[in-house]
Amino acid sequence: MNTHHDIVIVGAGFSGIGTAIKLREAGFDDILLIDDADGPGGVWHWNTYPGVAVDIPSFSYQFSFEQASNWTRTYAPGRELKHYAERCVAKYDLARHIQYSTRVTRAEFDEPSDRWAIETSRGDLSARWMIHAGGPLSQPSRPAIDGIDDFAGQIMHTSRWDHDIDLAGQRVGIIGTGASAVQVIPEIAPEVAHLTVFQRTPIWCLPKPDLALPRAARAALSAVPGAKSAARLVSQAFVEFTFPGIAHYYARIPGVGQVEKAARAWLASQVRDPETRAKLTPDYTLGCKRPSFHNGYLKTFNRENVTLETDSIARVTADGIRTEAGNEHTLDVLILATGFKVTDKDAMPSYPVAGRGGADLGDHWDTYRHHAYQGVSTAGFPNYFTTFGPYGYNGASFFTLIEASAAHIVRVLEAAREREASRVEVTEAAQEAFIADMHARGHRQVFRQGACANANSYYFTRHGDVPFRAATTPEIQWKSRHFPLDDYAFMKAG
Ligand SMILES: Cc1cc2nc3c(=O)[nH]c(=O)nc-3n(C[C@H](O)[C@H](O)[C@H](O)COP(=O)(O)OP(=O)(O)OC[C@H]3O[C@@H](n4cnc5c(N)ncnc54)[C@H](O)[C@@H]3O)c2cc1C
Repeated sequence: MNTHHDIVIVGAGFSGIGTAIKLREAGFDDILLIDDADGPGGVWHWNTYPGVAVDIPSFSYQFSFEQASNWTRTYAPGRELKHYAERCVAKYDLARHIQYSTRVTRAEFDEPSDRWAIETSRGDLSARWMIHAGGPLSQPSRPAIDGIDDFAGQIMHTSRWDHDIDLAGQRVGIIGTGASAVQVIPEIAPEVAHLTVFQRTPIWCLPKPDLALPRAARAALSAVPGAKSAARLVSQAFVEFTFPGIAHYYARIPGVGQVEKAARAWLASQVRDPETRAKLTPDYTLGCKRPSFHNGYLKTFNRENVTLETDSIARVTADGIRTEAGNEHTLDVLILATGFKVTDKDAMPSYPVAGRGGADLGDHWDTYRHHAYQGVSTAGFPNYFTTFGPYGYNGASFFTLIEASAAHIVRVLEAAREREASRVEVTEAAQEAFIADMHARGHRQVFRQGACANANSYYFTRHGDVPFRAATTPEIQWKSRHFPLDDYAFMKAG
């Protein structure tokens, strides 16, 4: 491989793909995307567990400039997203830019040359500009439970599903009841001999308007002028209200508590046993952590072959799991639905990044609280951009936000090209003003208004911050295209 590129992008998920498409449109062509997967799509490449699907409507979960009309459901299954990624790579001629099965292990800014020195599992590289598109949910979290390595049965994480493990007739345990577990549990319960669900924190689960889109509906979507745009508009409005709306404007939406009431009513209608129902009822405000949407999850707990264990796990043994109260669960297969490392310093970013003066980005965020200008750039780390850095994500469809960060990055790089700058860095003043604004908006968010203490939510950093963009999607879109270019310092080497 060439050892120097104008732009290196870490990650060939939708952030990497979308950003590369927009950079190419702006005339940048010396781009290398690096991914440790052996194909494109990021989470949709890695997550192939039974039932994997999007949890916001597909009309929103796609690029605005590449709207598909062949989704088979209103909430597409994961394999359709994987195919969509492959189609984008082919259509926008990205294959020649991507290096798969390669992990970026370290990056350091070389001040004399204004270049990033990048170490990978397959050799060293350099780049003028580096874009981290490594994803917020790409580094699996394996729980540090005593004895986990002693388990004599088979063990797998939901995001690294082993399709060679046959679950039929097996005694299966699943640790975790987050978004992936909600999708897996109803799928595997009918085939296993017994399923024990180990729950630490119950999840708010809401019904999902998940409808099949038959061939005729798909044909109409592509043939009727304006049909795709209308479907997208309705979908965007729904997503905007249910995710960023409730999260960031909680204090301003009259009657917002009705949503939680409706969720309770849905739970009551699904689960027959009052004791199980009580165990499945969250004791934190809806919105403190990402709720799930599924029509079959809650009623799976009515099945004879499903046990909900809420006692804390004491240890994993060779035969299964023992809880603090001494309950022994004998298992053949253990599934870790334990999610991802999100704001941990070894996950965000997923490799050490040394900026100006050698400062480490993970340590910097961990020590001085997460901060970045519009989620895209951090003072002290010149020529380095993040698609989902701190205060980049507002809870809406990632796609709209990928397009916003790509617009921001392209705008900065176009300005650098025009000014023949070799170094670009966001000013401390612009970054601090942005973060102060984010903090000032915090009081109206559900994270501050609601009872979140028991949520065990990955939204919160160890400092108690929720580094989400406290803004509507249209505001983010507008600001990513109209921020003052003076918020960046453009410099020339030498
Ligand atoms: C199961 C699941 C379902 C989801 N469903 C939804 C949904 O319905 N709606 C929604 O809005 N969001 C959803 N998300 C969130 C999802 O993270 C985003 O929607 C989106 O896919 C993020 O895209 P990305 O390209 O930023 O990251 P990713 O898709 O995670 O891609 C990042 C890629 O970078 C690679 N990478 C990371 N670090 C390195 C490194 N050091 N070296 C080399 N490669 C590296 C990763 O392996 C990965 O392939 C879901 C996430 C998961 C896990």
